Amino acid sequence: QAKAEGRGQMHFYSPGLKSAARARRQCADDMIIGLEQGQFQCVYQPQYACSTLEIVGAEALVRWDHPTRGRLAPDAFLDVAEDLDIVAKIDQVVFERALEDSKKWRASGKHVPQISVNVSAKRLLDPMLAMRISHLADEEQRFAFELLESVFLDDADANLSTNLACIRNLGISIEVDDFGTGHASMVGLLNLQPDRLKIDRQLVMPLVRSQRQRRLVASIIEIGHVLGIAVVAEGVETQEHVDVLASLGCDYLQGYGLARPMSAADLQELLPEL
Ligand code: C2E
Ligand code: MG
Ligand code: MG
Ligand code: MG
Repeated sequence: QAKAEGRGQMHFYSPGLKSAARARRQCADDMIIGLEQGQFQCVYQPQYACSTLEIVGAEALVRWDHPTRGRLAPDAFLDVAEDLDIVAKIDQVVFERALEDSKKWRASGKHVPQISVNVSAKRLLDPMLAMRISHLADEEQRFAFELLESVFLDDADANLSTNLACIRNLGISIEVDDFGTGHASMVGLLNLQPDRLKIDRQLVMPLVRSQRQRRLVASIIEIGHVLGIAVVAEGVETQEHVDVLASLGCDYLQGYGLARPMSAADLQELLPEL
């Protein structure tokens, strides 16, 4: 009946929009409280050397233990966090958590060679980033920051270049996340000269389906290697993935087929004794 009213279509849509906006505001309010109350946790997904299948690192992935909605994955709240600048606070909490967990692992005689954390564009442009991370840099734990391709586009930004220099000075590696889904700028890769690039799982998963997909991934690995950048494949789900990626000379693997994201305690179990 809203249609019949012509202009009345607005009536038809606006209640939904309003309640969506209300839900986002509620989610943001909950997030701010959640940050204060320590509701954000990390799970860790191991990363493996392609040649030996030894654990070479782990990616810290945020989870939100919401008091009424239960444990939430990032896709349930990260876009709201992005819009409202809360995401940089979440990234900071994840980094702090990962550092605490790494101390626990070490106390139990275990060690993860490298922990990767995801860093949002907002955080990377934060003029206070150096102050927030300098005191956390840890001589005994190597960290990497995973950045999206899109951050290169802003390379004229003064905060960005200062922050990248600071990150490097602290001994933190730089990795390009979800490579091949964004701008995949070769100039960006040349200028940034990251330590690793991570091929997005949308490119890796169909790898076993066709020669064409396989050649595409082979070319990305080659681009990485030509530039002296190690390559990580995401979304490794099957033995066939492992075999093909090994034959293509991929350096590192991450995916459900090897290990799912897990609690700090479960990762501790999985790690070999030092
Ligand atoms: P990402 O950084 O690309 O992380 C990998 C995502 O792929 C994770 O989802 C992981 O569980 C999933 N994944 C890993 N292996 C496989 C596989 O074999 N098959 C499939 N289908 N999926 C796989 P998750 O934990 O839901 O994270 C989603 C995204 O949220 C991450 O993508 C990252 O962009 C973002 N994110 C996670 N934690 C943080 C954080 O602390 N800060 C920021 N800014 N973003 C985060
Ligand atoms: Mg990532
Ligand atoms: Mg990724
Ligand atoms: Mg992603």
